[in-house]
Amino acid sequence: MNKFEQLGLNESLLLAIKDLGFENPSEVQEKAIPILLEKDTDIVALAQTGTGKTAAFGFPLIQKINVDDRRTQALVLSPTRELCLQITNEIKQYSKYVKELHTVAIYGGANINEQAKEIKRGAQIIVATPGRMQDMINRGMVNIKNINYCVLDEADEMLNMGFYDDITAILSDTPDEKSTWLFSATMPQEVARIAREFMRKPLEITVGHKNSGSQNVSHEFYLVNARDRYAALKRLADANPDIFSVVFCRTKRDTQAIAEKLIEDGYNAAALHGDLSQAQRDAVMKSFRGRQIQMLVATDVAARGIDVDDITHVINYQLPDEVETYTHRSGRTGRAGKSGTSMVIVTKSELRKINQIEKIIKTKFEEKPIPSGIEICEIQLFHLANKIKDVEIDHEIDSYLPAIEEVLIDLSKEELIKRIVSVEFNRFLAYYKKSRDISAETSSNRRGEIPTDGAVRYFINIGSRDNFDWMSLKDFLRDTLELGRDDIFKVDVKEGFSFFNTDAEHVDRVMNTMNNIRLEGRKINVEISKNDGSRNQGRRDHGGRDRRNSGNRERRGNSDRKFEGRKDGKPSGERKGRRSNDTEKGFFDRAKRSRRS
Ligand code: ADP
Ligand code: MG
Repeated sequence: MNKFEQLGLNESLLLAIKDLGFENPSEVQEKAIPILLEKDTDIVALAQTGTGKTAAFGFPLIQKINVDDRRTQALVLSPTRELCLQITNEIKQYSKYVKELHTVAIYGGANINEQAKEIKRGAQIIVATPGRMQDMINRGMVNIKNINYCVLDEADEMLNMGFYDDITAILSDTPDEKSTWLFSATMPQEVARIAREFMRKPLEITVGHKNSGSQNVSHEFYLVNARDRYAALKRLADANPDIFSVVFCRTKRDTQAIAEKLIEDGYNAAALHGDLSQAQRDAVMKSFRGRQIQMLVATDVAARGIDVDDITHVINYQLPDEVETYTHRSGRTGRAGKSGTSMVIVTKSELRKINQIEKIIKTKFEEKPIPSGIEICEIQLFHLANKIKDVEIDHEIDSYLPAIEEVLIDLSKEELIKRIVSVEFNRFLAYYKKSRDISAETSSNRRGEIPTDGAVRYFINIGSRDNFDWMSLKDFLRDTLELGRDDIFKVDVKEGFSFFNTDAEHVDRVMNTMNNIRLEGRKINVEISKNDGSRNQGRRDHGGRDRRNSGNRERRGNSDRKFEGRKDGKPSGERKGRRSNDTEKGFFDRAKRSRRS
């Protein structure tokens, strides 16, 4: 007897399960199915996304429907049109050997009269979004007065989306003696309230931790300055050449804009949000499922329905307003036993949200630096090498080989490899050589390039407030570093911080010594300054930079200190010495475009 049989499922369901290729029930299925089959009870089942909740209620529901009766016996409410269609589709698959069982989807944005007609033909199970359902009840197009089962699927999502009133209105139109099955990933206050007010002594099933996300998902955050958000997104994509992802934005407008930019920059991207027509949304989802789209940029609402199993990355381009929403975002990956990564692009001011989310998901984020240009070049290079290795050869090419060999005859194997790979690599390198480091520094990303020649300018977090003037600071540095009189120059003391120069040969000594001492209990922080007075003359942004930097530095200095507390307490990282005014657009994008076309 297989495990599904042990749960009490009948032959026609077992056959369908076999067709679907499900080998073992998931935990929530194992717990919920026997109870729902045996008893007529209310139930609250909490399990993270991707754990098979649809089948957990779908299987027993199908088995309990009386197919000889064509009246509506069950109502499944779900938050979005997409999800509504998916559930309907799943139920149809599960019940493919149950003749005479009819399931109809009811959702906004489609012809209401057509839907009413379908119901008239007989629908024992209706799967509906709350808004459209309420509408059809008001117009007398459906009758749910005799239902035996009401399923609230993704209850937390429905309430998140403001469907409380619709749900309660719909429930008041159903008989008291029905069973209510509530399925949810999380149990916020409002869900508890529904359970309290509309359910009778519900049994509670919990799988995993309440409110926790999938165990298969690793959570990472990338700290950047706000203006680098988009560049960071591109780098994350570039560093993951096989990415298949959902990128979350906060607003429809951002969603559309980011998708457009990505497309313009040569990525296979598309937008999914509520302003698109149904036909457009269907087309986008079709391309996404078909992998023609690698980056689906979506709003939270529009993405609710997405159930695509192989999503490798969820990228939080912006964090959601409600931190709880993060669970649903990250739940789009790591489904059906696969592993996934949820990345957050975050600015300093949003860091506290990371802490809040860690509490909700009961998992720590890993802080990672945005990949550097060189790292990306390497990744792309090896990706290319593997692609060359794995490419399928069309033997049409054979007839050209003698002539091609003629051209390449003088090249050794090694030379040949170098050249083939350079075709792409040169272009990446040309682009990324000029690229700057875009990770905003924190206590732990101590990285960046250290110049090896010329003069180096440093930022140090002590100034006139600490009773230094340029002479006394110079003396202090010289003594601490054990350097000669002229090794420290261009000392410029501001109120809360200062700048000074040394020759590049002293960089290690300065960084290592100064970052490991304290002044009156305060940690001294020295960074290589972008404000490199000696090397960047004539750059466009030179004028006024001092002032702008001052503000930034001061703010950064402060928040750095706060941040240090929760991290590893290492001194703040040095800044990269070089910087380019080039935009992120360039060769790499063109290379990408040509590769992907
Ligand atoms: P949830 O509603 O909990 O987020 P779904 O019901 O959408 O999860 O299921 C997630 C995926 O797992 C779906 O693709 C579904 O077909 C698949 N699935 C469900 N149950 C099983 C099972 N017992 N074995 C293998 N895959 C399953
Ligand atoms: Mg579900």
